[in-house]
Amino acid sequence: MDRVAIVTGASRGIGREIAKELAYKGIKVIANYNKSIEEAEKLKKELMQEGIEIDIFMADVSKREEGKSLVEFALKKYGKIDILINNAGISEYKLFTDETDEDWNRVINTNLYSAFMMCQEVIPNMVRNQSGCIVNISSIWGQVGSSLEVIYSVSKAGMDGLTKALAKELGPSNIRVNSIAPGIINTDMNKNLSKTDIERIEEDIPLGKIGLPKDIAKCVGWMVDEKYTTGQIIGINGGWCIN
Ligand code: NAP
Repeated sequence: MDRVAIVTGASRGIGREIAKELAYKGIKVIANYNKSIEEAEKLKKELMQEGIEIDIFMADVSKREEGKSLVEFALKKYGKIDILINNAGISEYKLFTDETDEDWNRVINTNLYSAFMMCQEVIPNMVRNQSGCIVNISSIWGQVGSSLEVIYSVSKAGMDGLTKALAKELGPSNIRVNSIAPGIINTDMNKNLSKTDIERIEEDIPLGKIGLPKDIAKCVGWMVDEKYTTGQIIGINGGWCIN
């Protein structure tokens, strides 16, 4: 039977491209969205025109009940989940001393708790099948920290910690867990950056340009097929951060 994948936050940007990449591989994709129903429907329609069927499912993955219903939908329809891509995320740009508890809860719940919760919901099925692949979309800022994005950086560093620890716990069950840490990727998340801001950033990137959602999606496409990589944080950033 075809493999089954859940991609969170797949209505726009990187998640949308990941959903397409996996669908083109013949994987059954459940593309999760939260607010952007029109974009999600457009994605489904676009793929339908190419003869590919995907499911779209609304859930706010910062909430356990909604994440649970997303997983239950997948299990009811396909009976298994082979791949989980924790991509849903939001950014927050503020002086640290202006950050509130509400900001902390919103960013941590959307970016980090969602990954913790979605992993908990899918892992029992993966363990039963002795097979699984989890990819967490973290960020370069989780690796090196970003001024004015402290909570965001914490959430992504936490995601990388989740990746490393879970990879050790789940390796014996043949479940691989990895992070992809993008640099700057051309999506709505960066629409606050001016053309000059982008040009300045590009001067510091060895490959001389910011990335595209496809750059991340291609790496996910590779990760779901290979069999011997786990617990790794793969930086896709044009050489902006080289450890
Ligand atoms: P984006 O264009 O703003 O898209 C964000 C996606 O996440 C949307 O599909 C949105 O869905 C979804 N989402 C947000 N909150 C959600 C929630 N509570 N439940 C379900 N879905 C939710 O952002 P992007 O650039 O593609 O970012 C995708 C991931 O890559 C994020 O985790 C981000 O932190 C990470 N990343 C991005 C960059 C970058 O430069 N773009 C760099 C490093 C890491 P709706 O619109 O339907 O609400």
